Amino acid sequence: MYFDDNTLVYLDGEFVPAAQATCGVYAQSLHYGYAVFEGIRAYNTAQGTRIFKAREHYERLHYSCQSIGLPLTYSVEELTEISYQLLAKNNLTDAYLRPLVFAATPHMTLTAPPASNLMLAAWHWGKYLGSQSLRLTVSPYERPNPKAVPIEAKVSGHYANSIIASSEAKGRGFDEALLLDMNGYVAEGPGANFFVEKDGALFTAPGGSILRGITRNTVIDLARSAGITVTERFFRPDELRGATGAFMTGTAAEVVGVASVDDVVFATPFEHTLGAQLAARYTALVLGETAAAEAS
Ligand code: PMP
Repeated sequence: MYFDDNTLVYLDGEFVPAAQATCGVYAQSLHYGYAVFEGIRAYNTAQGTRIFKAREHYERLHYSCQSIGLPLTYSVEELTEISYQLLAKNNLTDAYLRPLVFAATPHMTLTAPPASNLMLAAWHWGKYLGSQSLRLTVSPYERPNPKAVPIEAKVSGHYANSIIASSEAKGRGFDEALLLDMNGYVAEGPGANFFVEKDGALFTAPGGSILRGITRNTVIDLARSAGITVTERFFRPDELRGATGAFMTGTAAEVVGVASVDDVVFATPFEHTLGAQLAARYTALVLGETAAAEAS
């Protein structure tokens, strides 16, 4: 699914066949999750292949590396250029891009490695959470305590929490988990942010215990430019009662409706919510059919 015999990945300065791009079992990142990554999408637009918000994603990659002290020697511009080359070499237009900064060095000591490695892969990926409205459940697992790890950085090791929560929710027959923060406020999904519509306005968790998604920021901008009030504030699951609807946002998931959270079932079909309007605006924006400023 991710690669075939013809796929090339970028690894430390060259494009190599995916099957040959391997990493040793003593790699520090493999043992401790001490690595950083991004999830980016490219779209086939009327103006050609366009990577959506490449700068924001690569600035976040730099921020994530700095947050954990992992060296990254490539500039935002170089990373963007490599990304376009990778797409062209693999004849990809609509694609998901996965840059990974990691330590292949055999380094079992619990200190930052002297150098890092860079891998970039791309593949076709449909909407990560599908197109149907999701049945969520509040997870028994919380988001990691932001005083324990820099939770606003996209660190590989944080995703053990995501995998555990998502698997647990699916094991109970739900589509996805909804995680609370350490104070019992709704934070986000394992790989997507969460918005609620109530009384004609939207609210979503503030920064602190979430990854402040680039899609989240884009959707906030789209909503505000359409005159919709968006508040970033703490809220508990019981505030979902009486809400009109909810949706999740993420680069991989894009904008996807939420049908229910445990026994709270949203009465309004997603198609009739602000989330659906914003999903359409988001699609128009990523396809270059509207510029950010005129997306309203
Ligand atoms: N939260 C988490 C935990 C994620 O992994 C992601 C996906 N990167 C998001 C939110 C959404 O972020 P973005 O919109 O930047 O993809």
